Amino acid sequence: MTVNLLDLDLEGLAVFCERLGEKRFRAVQLFRWIHRKGAQNFEDMSDLAKSFREKLKSLATITPLSVVSQHISADGTIKWLFDVGGGNAIETVFIPESDRGTLCVSSQAGCAVGCRFCSTGHQGFSRNLTTGEIISQLWHAEFFLRKHLGCDERVISNVVMMGMGEPLQNYKELIPALKVMLDDHGYGLSRRRVTVSTSGIVPMIDRLSQDCPVALAVSVHAPNDGLRDQLVPLNLKYPLSQLMAACHRYLAFAPRDFITFEYCMLAGVNDSDECALQLVQRIKAHPGTWCKFNLIPFNPFPASGLTCSSPERVKVFARILNDAGIITTVRKTRGDDIDAACGQLAGDVKDRTRVVDRIARQRSIPIHPVADSTLANSGAVQ
Ligand code: SAH
Ligand code: SF4
Repeated sequence: MTVNLLDLDLEGLAVFCERLGEKRFRAVQLFRWIHRKGAQNFEDMSDLAKSFREKLKSLATITPLSVVSQHISADGTIKWLFDVGGGNAIETVFIPESDRGTLCVSSQAGCAVGCRFCSTGHQGFSRNLTTGEIISQLWHAEFFLRKHLGCDERVISNVVMMGMGEPLQNYKELIPALKVMLDDHGYGLSRRRVTVSTSGIVPMIDRLSQDCPVALAVSVHAPNDGLRDQLVPLNLKYPLSQLMAACHRYLAFAPRDFITFEYCMLAGVNDSDECALQLVQRIKAHPGTWCKFNLIPFNPFPASGLTCSSPERVKVFARILNDAGIITTVRKTRGDDIDAACGQLAGDVKDRTRVVDRIARQRSIPIHPVADSTLANSGAVQ
């Protein structure tokens, strides 16, 4: 059986090379060919001994995902659909900005969390991506863009694990992929510029702080458990008080001195003044200026039965948080003409769970606004 070298971080590649009787610095050379130069062919690796190249040819491959389609938006955003086999496809989005290039990377084919407002969630879950499939998205995008733009320099400066899937439910494959992104011999990205976004798997937030502390974004979406239970079902297992405490603990190891909270603005559901005030209370229950809010205008899709808050409502909501000293920004929508905006990534998922059924059942239940008492009972108010 051949090994796909995209599955290995530098440590893994060093072990692989040692087994072939090669020194560690050979692994470094090989790693650089793959992730710095985008090489796919061992023949091209001119500074590796011919005998080593022959061994590699018989035992290893560099096999990226195959591209099903590529769409370029009027604003320069690019979306790729990659085939991951078994009838599944995943999506990756490149977002160019004047001072950075951000790649939004998927971690799973589908997602088992089943958030009510997310089109990936509505498709159910098929499987975790491998490390190679996660890294492949960056490998393809980076080397495609260099060729496309005719430049030798790095194009992608930031990675956000905000594509399809819940990255912390694919922890084992995620960590080596993050290490390749951060490695100076690989993509050399700064820890501050690699962000893991999670719907809040509390024990895994703690593990991430020890194993690979990158920037953390947490999808909060509601100020109290009663409402969050309905929007992000995972909240039943890891309620807000536990989640907030885990975020606060993460700070001691984080590359930045704040956690980002994402909050998807849903008209009449989580966008009232009352919700904003409850959020302020919850944040202030922990000392310091320790978080920022990123309000995401909801990108509607028909099956959700939800609509986006008006721009005025988003503005007022942001003002309440800002006035309380919580830095709050509103995320600009990019690439919506090619369905590449937040929460629109749907790929193609052969659901192997009952998530789709569960969501269909949920959809028929109206979302209940939740009174303050839920907050008082949740331990946030001291
Ligand atoms: N599973 C992870 C990362 C992927 S989702 C997480 O939930 O954090 C990335 C972000 O897009 C999350 O904040 C998610 O809540 C948000 N999102 C999902 N569906 C959306 C939609 N329809 N409109 C706007 N944002 C959405
Ligand atoms: Fe999964 Fe994130 Fe979508 Fe929730 S918002 S269903 S966790 S991808």
